[in-house]
Amino acid sequence: MENNYQQKINCTVHTCKYNDTQCQKCNLQQIIVEPMQDCNTKQADESMCGSYEYNED
Ligand code: SF4
Repeated sequence: MENNYQQKINCTVHTCKYNDTQCQKCNLQQIIVEPMQDCNTKQADESMCGSYEYNED
């Protein structure tokens, strides 16, 4: 069975060059999420977007 499901990445990191600030979404088709080094809070801050790139414009 064909899977037509397309994942959507919502994101509000407006300083990232891949962020669509109006729609609050990521323009990439896929991202990599990486663990934060030495962070053991058991909260969301243990993870970070490894695909982030600073928007210099
Ligand atoms: S690459 Fe990561 S930080 Fe940048 S817009 Fe996409 S999800 Fe957000």
